[in-house]
Amino acid sequence: MESRQILLNPGPVTLSDRVRAALTRGDWCHREPEFAALVREILEGLAGVHPELGTEFEAVLLTGSGTAAVEAMLACFAPTAGKTLVLSNGVYGERMARMLQAHHKPHRIVALGWTDALDIAAVEQALAADSAITHVAVVHHETTTGRLNDLAALGRACRSRGVRLLVDAVSSFGAEEIVPEAWNLDAIAGTANKCLHGVPGLAFVLARRELWRAPPAAVRSVYLDLYSYHRAQHDDGFSPFTQAVQIAFALREALAEHREQGGWSARRQLFRRRAERVYRSLRDAGVETLLKPEEYSCVLWSYRLPPGRSYAGLHDRMKREGFVIYAGQGKFANEMFRIANMGDIKSADMDRLTALLGSAVRP
Ligand SMILES: *Cc1c(COP(=O)(O)O)cnc(C)c1O
Repeated sequence: MESRQILLNPGPVTLSDRVRAALTRGDWCHREPEFAALVREILEGLAGVHPELGTEFEAVLLTGSGTAAVEAMLACFAPTAGKTLVLSNGVYGERMARMLQAHHKPHRIVALGWTDALDIAAVEQALAADSAITHVAVVHHETTTGRLNDLAALGRACRSRGVRLLVDAVSSFGAEEIVPEAWNLDAIAGTANKCLHGVPGLAFVLARRELWRAPPAAVRSVYLDLYSYHRAQHDDGFSPFTQAVQIAFALREALAEHREQGGWSARRQLFRRRAERVYRSLRDAGVETLLKPEEYSCVLWSYRLPPGRSYAGLHDRMKREGFVIYAGQGKFANEMFRIANMGDIKSADMDRLTALLGSAVRP
Protein backbone atom coordinates (compact mmCIF):
# COMPACT_ATOMS: atom_id res chain seq x y z
CA MET A 1 0.00 0.00 0.00
CA GLU A 2 1.17 3.54 -0.68
CA SER A 3 2.27 5.28 2.47
CA ARG A 4 0.30 8.43 1.69
CA GLN A 5 -3.38 7.59 1.50
CA ILE A 6 -5.96 10.26 0.65
CA LEU A 7 -9.11 9.75 2.70
CA LEU A 8 -12.33 10.74 0.93
CA ASN A 9 -14.52 9.19 3.64
CA PRO A 10 -16.40 11.46 6.07
CA GLY A 11 -13.73 11.39 8.78
CA PRO A 12 -11.16 10.59 9.88
CA VAL A 13 -9.35 12.82 7.42
CA THR A 14 -5.92 12.99 5.80
CA LEU A 15 -3.83 14.88 8.36
CA SER A 16 -1.51 17.76 7.64
CA ASP A 17 2.13 17.17 8.60
CA ARG A 18 1.81 19.80 11.31
CA VAL A 19 -1.17 18.10 12.97
CA ARG A 20 0.42 14.62 12.71
CA ALA A 21 3.71 15.88 14.15
CA ALA A 22 1.89 17.29 17.18
CA LEU A 23 1.00 13.74 18.25
CA THR A 24 4.57 13.10 19.36
CA ARG A 25 4.96 16.24 21.43
CA GLY A 26 5.43 14.39 24.68
CA ASP A 27 4.07 12.38 27.57
CA TRP A 28 1.90 14.56 29.74
CA CYS A 29 -0.21 13.76 32.76
CA HIS A 30 -3.80 14.91 32.35
CA ARG A 31 -3.81 16.14 35.96
CA GLU A 32 -0.89 18.54 35.59
CA PRO A 33 -1.30 22.28 35.02
CA GLU A 34 0.24 22.23 31.53
CA PHE A 35 -2.54 19.94 30.33
CA ALA A 36 -5.19 22.05 32.05
CA ALA A 37 -3.85 25.10 30.20
CA LEU A 38 -3.99 23.20 26.91
CA VAL A 39 -7.63 22.21 27.49
CA ARG A 40 -8.58 25.80 28.26
CA GLU A 41 -6.87 26.95 25.08
CA ILE A 42 -8.78 24.32 23.08
CA LEU A 43 -12.11 25.32 24.67
CA GLU A 44 -11.48 28.92 23.67
CA GLY A 45 -10.43 27.84 20.21
CA LEU A 46 -13.59 25.77 19.77
CA ALA A 47 -15.85 28.62 20.88
CA GLY A 48 -14.03 30.86 18.38
CA VAL A 49 -14.40 28.59 15.31
CA HIS A 50 -17.82 30.09 14.69
CA PRO A 51 -17.51 33.62 16.04
CA GLU A 52 -21.32 33.85 16.14
CA LEU A 53 -21.24 31.30 19.00
CA GLY A 54 -18.33 32.75 20.88
CA THR A 55 -19.84 34.97 23.52
CA GLU A 56 -23.02 33.06 24.28
CA PHE A 57 -21.80 29.47 24.13
CA GLU A 58 -19.31 27.54 26.25
CA ALA A 59 -17.62 24.35 25.12
CA VAL A 60 -16.72 21.14 26.91
CA LEU A 61 -14.24 18.65 25.55
CA LEU A 62 -14.65 14.91 25.95
CA THR A 63 -12.69 11.88 24.88
CA GLY A 64 -14.78 9.84 22.47
CA SER A 65 -15.97 9.91 18.87
CA GLY A 66 -18.62 12.25 17.48
CA THR A 67 -21.38 9.92 18.61
CA ALA A 68 -20.28 10.37 22.23
CA ALA A 69 -20.71 14.14 21.89
CA VAL A 70 -24.18 13.84 20.33
CA GLU A 71 -25.32 11.35 22.96
CA ALA A 72 -23.89 13.48 25.76
CA MET A 73 -25.69 16.55 24.38
CA LEU A 74 -29.01 14.70 24.37
CA ALA A 75 -28.37 13.09 27.76
CA CYS A 76 -27.82 16.54 29.27
CA PHE A 77 -30.07 18.92 27.34
CA ALA A 78 -33.02 16.92 25.99
CA PRO A 79 -35.75 17.42 28.59
CA THR A 80 -37.31 14.77 30.80
CA ALA A 81 -40.25 17.01 31.73
CA GLY A 82 -40.81 18.32 28.18
CA LYS A 83 -40.52 16.37 24.96
CA THR A 84 -38.05 16.30 22.06
CA LEU A 85 -39.12 16.13 18.43
CA VAL A 86 -36.50 14.30 16.36
CA LEU A 87 -36.30 15.04 12.63
CA SER A 88 -34.64 12.28 10.77
CA ASN A 89 -33.67 12.05 7.10
CA GLY A 90 -30.74 9.69 7.41
CA VAL A 91 -28.67 7.42 9.61
CA TYR A 92 -27.60 10.13 12.03
CA GLY A 93 -31.10 11.47 12.65
CA GLU A 94 -32.25 7.91 13.33
CA ARG A 95 -29.31 7.50 15.71
CA MET A 96 -30.44 10.54 17.73
CA ALA A 97 -33.85 8.92 18.17
CA ARG A 98 -32.16 5.72 19.39
CA MET A 99 -30.18 7.74 21.91
CA LEU A 100 -33.29 9.42 23.33
CA GLN A 101 -34.86 5.97 23.57
CA ALA A 102 -31.81 4.60 25.38
CA HIS A 103 -31.89 7.50 27.86
CA HIS A 104 -35.66 7.18 28.41
CA LYS A 105 -36.29 10.73 27.24
CA PRO A 106 -39.79 11.56 25.98
CA HIS A 107 -39.64 12.07 22.23
CA ARG A 108 -41.49 11.89 18.95
CA ILE A 109 -40.01 11.30 15.52
CA VAL A 110 -40.74 12.88 12.18
CA ALA A 111 -39.22 10.10 10.06
CA LEU A 112 -38.50 11.16 6.49
CA GLY A 113 -36.99 9.28 3.59
CA TRP A 114 -33.21 9.42 3.30
CA THR A 115 -33.36 11.58 0.19
CA ASP A 116 -36.06 13.90 1.58
CA ALA A 117 -35.54 17.50 2.65
CA LEU A 118 -36.74 18.50 6.13
CA ASP A 119 -40.52 18.76 6.12
CA ILE A 120 -41.17 22.07 7.88
CA ALA A 121 -44.95 21.77 7.49
CA ALA A 122 -44.82 18.42 9.32
CA VAL A 123 -42.78 20.05 12.08
CA GLU A 124 -45.29 22.89 12.42
CA GLN A 125 -48.09 20.36 12.58
CA ALA A 126 -46.34 18.30 15.22
CA LEU A 127 -45.58 21.39 17.32
CA ALA A 128 -49.16 22.61 17.02
CA ALA A 129 -50.57 19.19 17.93
CA ASP A 130 -48.34 18.54 20.95
CA SER A 131 -47.61 21.42 23.29
CA ALA A 132 -45.34 19.18 25.39
CA ILE A 133 -42.65 19.50 22.71
CA THR A 134 -40.01 21.94 23.97
CA HIS A 135 -36.99 20.85 21.87
CA VAL A 136 -36.17 19.72 18.36
CA ALA A 137 -33.16 17.47 17.67
CA VAL A 138 -31.76 17.54 14.15
CA VAL A 139 -28.65 16.83 12.10
CA HIS A 140 -27.10 19.84 10.36
CA HIS A 141 -25.27 18.03 7.58
CA GLU A 142 -26.83 14.58 7.11
CA THR A 143 -23.76 12.64 6.06
CA THR A 144 -25.89 9.71 4.86
CA THR A 145 -26.54 11.59 1.63
CA GLY A 146 -24.60 14.85 1.92
CA ARG A 147 -27.70 16.98 2.40
CA LEU A 148 -27.25 20.25 4.25
CA ASN A 149 -30.51 20.50 6.18
CA ASP A 150 -32.22 23.89 6.10
CA LEU A 151 -31.94 24.87 9.74
CA ALA A 152 -32.89 28.48 9.02
CA ALA A 153 -36.39 27.41 7.98
CA LEU A 154 -36.59 24.95 10.88
CA GLY A 155 -35.35 27.61 13.28
CA ARG A 156 -38.09 30.00 12.20
CA ALA A 157 -40.74 27.36 12.90
CA CYS A 158 -39.24 26.61 16.31
CA ARG A 159 -38.58 30.17 17.32
CA SER A 160 -42.17 31.30 16.92
CA ARG A 161 -43.17 28.65 19.50
CA GLY A 162 -40.20 29.01 21.84
CA VAL A 163 -38.92 25.54 20.92
CA ARG A 164 -35.14 25.07 21.28
CA LEU A 165 -32.81 23.33 18.85
CA LEU A 166 -30.25 20.59 19.67
CA VAL A 167 -27.99 20.06 16.67
CA ASP A 168 -25.67 17.27 15.55
CA ALA A 169 -23.08 19.32 13.67
CA VAL A 170 -20.46 16.58 13.76
CA SER A 171 -19.86 16.76 10.00
CA SER A 172 -20.39 20.50 9.52
CA PHE A 173 -18.76 22.28 12.47
CA GLY A 174 -15.92 24.39 11.12
CA ALA A 175 -17.07 24.46 7.48
CA GLU A 176 -20.75 25.42 7.24
CA GLU A 177 -22.55 28.46 8.58
CA ILE A 178 -23.98 28.22 12.10
CA VAL A 179 -26.50 30.88 13.10
CA PRO A 180 -27.47 30.41 16.76
CA GLU A 181 -30.12 33.13 17.04
CA ALA A 182 -31.97 32.32 13.81
CA TRP A 183 -31.90 28.62 14.69
CA ASN A 184 -33.02 29.12 18.30
CA LEU A 185 -30.01 26.99 19.15
CA ASP A 186 -29.45 25.58 22.64
CA ALA A 187 -26.56 23.19 22.04
CA ILE A 188 -24.45 21.76 19.26
CA ALA A 189 -22.15 18.73 19.07
CA GLY A 190 -18.98 18.33 17.00
CA THR A 191 -15.81 16.31 16.64
CA ALA A 192 -12.08 16.90 16.19
CA ASN A 193 -11.60 14.72 13.14
CA LYS A 194 -13.91 16.00 10.43
CA CYS A 195 -14.04 19.61 9.17
CA LEU A 196 -11.55 20.75 11.84
CA HIS A 197 -8.91 18.32 10.47
CA GLY A 198 -7.85 16.92 13.86
CA VAL A 199 -7.23 13.33 14.90
CA PRO A 200 -10.12 11.04 15.97
CA GLY A 201 -10.54 10.67 19.72
CA LEU A 202 -11.86 14.00 21.00
CA ALA A 203 -15.31 15.49 20.59
CA PHE A 204 -17.10 18.48 22.06
CA VAL A 205 -20.42 20.11 22.87
CA LEU A 206 -21.10 23.84 22.91
CA ALA A 207 -24.14 25.02 24.85
CA ARG A 208 -25.59 28.30 26.02
CA ARG A 209 -23.98 29.66 29.13
CA GLU A 210 -27.21 29.63 31.15
CA LEU A 211 -27.77 25.92 30.45
CA TRP A 212 -24.47 25.03 32.08
CA ARG A 213 -25.54 26.95 35.18
CA ALA A 214 -28.72 24.91 35.69
CA PRO A 215 -28.05 21.16 35.67
CA PRO A 216 -31.20 19.03 35.57
CA ALA A 217 -32.03 16.74 38.48
CA ALA A 218 -30.37 13.73 36.90
CA VAL A 219 -28.35 12.86 33.84
CA ARG A 220 -28.74 9.13 33.22
CA SER A 221 -25.07 8.59 32.51
CA VAL A 222 -21.84 8.99 34.41
CA TYR A 223 -19.34 9.31 31.56
CA LEU A 224 -21.62 11.49 29.44
CA ASP A 225 -22.60 13.91 32.22
CA LEU A 226 -21.26 17.06 30.59
CA TYR A 227 -22.06 19.18 33.63
CA SER A 228 -19.24 17.46 35.50
CA TYR A 229 -16.90 18.20 32.57
CA HIS A 230 -18.02 21.80 32.45
CA ARG A 231 -17.48 22.32 36.16
CA ALA A 232 -14.02 20.79 36.03
CA GLN A 233 -12.84 22.31 32.74
CA HIS A 234 -14.09 25.84 33.30
CA ASP A 235 -13.04 25.87 36.94
CA ASP A 236 -9.43 24.79 36.52
CA GLY A 237 -9.06 23.09 33.13
CA PHE A 238 -9.10 19.54 34.47
CA SER A 239 -11.54 16.86 33.39
CA PRO A 240 -13.39 14.20 35.36
CA PHE A 241 -11.82 11.35 33.37
CA THR A 242 -8.58 10.72 31.48
CA GLN A 243 -8.46 12.75 28.29
CA ALA A 244 -6.75 11.74 25.04
CA VAL A 245 -3.67 13.86 25.71
CA GLN A 246 -1.85 13.43 22.37
CA ILE A 247 -5.08 13.93 20.42
CA ALA A 248 -5.41 17.23 22.27
CA PHE A 249 -1.93 18.31 21.07
CA ALA A 250 -3.12 17.62 17.54
CA LEU A 251 -6.43 19.43 18.03
CA ARG A 252 -4.64 22.56 19.18
CA GLU A 253 -2.61 22.56 15.96
CA ALA A 254 -5.67 21.79 13.84
CA LEU A 255 -7.52 24.74 15.40
CA ALA A 256 -4.52 27.02 14.79
CA GLU A 257 -4.36 25.89 11.16
CA HIS A 258 -8.10 26.41 10.77
CA ARG A 259 -7.76 30.00 12.06
CA GLU A 260 -4.66 30.77 9.98
CA GLN A 261 -6.28 29.44 6.83
CA GLY A 262 -9.20 31.86 7.20
CA GLY A 263 -11.71 30.11 9.47
CA TRP A 264 -14.93 28.30 8.62
CA SER A 265 -15.89 30.33 5.55
CA ALA A 266 -12.49 29.83 3.88
CA ARG A 267 -12.77 26.13 4.65
CA ARG A 268 -16.25 26.05 3.15
CA GLN A 269 -14.89 27.62 -0.03
CA LEU A 270 -12.02 25.15 -0.15
CA PHE A 271 -14.33 22.13 0.30
CA ARG A 272 -16.81 23.54 -2.20
CA ARG A 273 -14.13 23.94 -4.86
CA ARG A 274 -13.09 20.33 -4.33
CA ALA A 275 -16.71 19.15 -4.46
CA GLU A 276 -17.29 20.99 -7.71
CA ARG A 277 -14.18 19.53 -9.33
CA VAL A 278 -15.20 15.99 -8.40
CA TYR A 279 -18.77 16.70 -9.52
CA ARG A 280 -17.67 17.94 -12.94
CA SER A 281 -15.41 14.96 -13.59
CA LEU A 282 -18.13 12.47 -12.61
CA ARG A 283 -20.86 14.33 -14.49
CA ASP A 284 -18.71 14.37 -17.62
CA ALA A 285 -18.33 10.60 -17.22
CA GLY A 286 -22.12 10.24 -17.07
CA VAL A 287 -22.53 9.74 -13.30
CA GLU A 288 -25.59 11.27 -11.61
CA THR A 289 -25.81 12.83 -8.19
CA LEU A 290 -28.23 11.29 -5.68
CA LEU A 291 -29.60 14.71 -4.63
CA LYS A 292 -29.79 17.95 -6.56
CA PRO A 293 -26.38 19.70 -6.62
CA GLU A 294 -27.75 22.72 -4.73
CA GLU A 295 -28.90 20.47 -1.85
CA TYR A 296 -25.40 19.32 -0.88
CA SER A 297 -23.13 20.54 1.86
CA CYS A 298 -19.59 21.51 0.94
CA VAL A 299 -18.37 18.49 2.91
CA LEU A 300 -19.66 15.41 1.09
CA TRP A 301 -21.59 14.55 -2.09
CA SER A 302 -23.30 11.28 -3.01
CA TYR A 303 -23.41 9.73 -6.48
CA ARG A 304 -25.41 6.96 -8.09
CA LEU A 305 -23.31 3.96 -9.06
CA PRO A 306 -23.29 3.65 -12.85
CA PRO A 307 -25.42 0.70 -14.05
CA GLY A 308 -23.52 -2.57 -13.87
CA ARG A 309 -20.72 -1.16 -11.67
CA SER A 310 -20.16 -2.55 -8.21
CA TYR A 311 -19.09 -0.32 -5.37
CA ALA A 312 -16.41 -2.83 -4.38
CA GLY A 313 -14.84 -2.68 -7.84
CA LEU A 314 -14.76 1.10 -7.88
CA HIS A 315 -13.50 1.29 -4.31
CA ASP A 316 -10.69 -1.22 -4.87
CA ARG A 317 -9.53 0.42 -8.07
CA MET A 318 -9.37 3.84 -6.39
CA LYS A 319 -7.71 2.41 -3.29
CA ARG A 320 -4.92 0.85 -5.34
CA GLU A 321 -4.17 4.41 -6.47
CA GLY A 322 -4.19 5.70 -2.90
CA PHE A 323 -7.73 7.14 -2.66
CA VAL A 324 -10.27 5.82 -0.15
CA ILE A 325 -13.83 6.55 -1.28
CA TYR A 326 -16.91 5.72 0.81
CA ALA A 327 -19.87 3.38 0.37
CA GLY A 328 -23.55 4.15 0.75
CA GLN A 329 -25.07 3.14 4.09
CA GLY A 330 -27.86 0.61 4.66
CA LYS A 331 -30.31 0.45 1.79
CA PHE A 332 -28.04 2.63 -0.34
CA ALA A 333 -25.09 0.23 -0.12
CA ASN A 334 -25.56 -1.10 -3.66
CA GLU A 335 -26.85 2.09 -5.22
CA MET A 336 -24.45 4.86 -4.47
CA PHE A 337 -21.05 6.00 -3.30
CA ARG A 338 -19.85 9.08 -1.48
CA ILE A 339 -16.90 11.43 -1.85
CA ALA A 340 -15.98 13.68 1.07
CA ASN A 341 -13.77 16.74 0.63
CA MET A 342 -12.19 17.18 4.04
CA GLY A 343 -8.55 16.90 5.03
CA ASP A 344 -5.14 17.97 3.84
CA ILE A 345 -5.62 17.22 0.14
CA LYS A 346 -3.13 18.93 -2.19
CA SER A 347 -4.08 20.34 -5.53
CA ALA A 348 -1.94 17.68 -7.25
CA ASP A 349 -3.99 15.05 -5.38
CA MET A 350 -7.16 16.65 -6.73
CA ASP A 351 -5.78 16.54 -10.28
CA ARG A 352 -4.97 12.86 -9.97
CA LEU A 353 -8.28 12.09 -8.22
CA THR A 354 -10.49 13.72 -10.83
CA ALA A 355 -8.61 12.08 -13.71
CA LEU A 356 -8.76 8.64 -12.06
CA LEU A 357 -12.41 8.88 -11.01
CA GLY A 358 -13.45 9.92 -14.48
CA SER A 359 -11.84 6.84 -16.00
CA ALA A 360 -12.79 4.43 -13.18
CA VAL A 361 -16.54 5.02 -13.59
CA ARG A 362 -16.62 4.78 -17.37
CA PRO A 363 -17.93 1.49 -18.74
C1 LIG B 1 -19.49 11.17 11.63
C2 LIG B 1 -20.81 11.61 12.17
C3 LIG B 1 -21.21 11.34 13.50
C4 LIG B 1 -20.37 10.61 14.50
O1 LIG B 1 -19.73 9.49 14.07
P1 LIG B 1 -18.53 8.85 14.91
O2 LIG B 1 -18.23 7.64 14.10
O3 LIG B 1 -19.04 8.57 16.25
O4 LIG B 1 -17.44 9.87 14.94
C5 LIG B 1 -22.41 11.84 13.94
N1 LIG B 1 -23.19 12.57 13.15
C6 LIG B 1 -22.84 12.87 11.88
C7 LIG B 1 -23.75 13.73 11.08
C8 LIG B 1 -21.65 12.38 11.35
O5 LIG B 1 -21.31 12.66 10.09
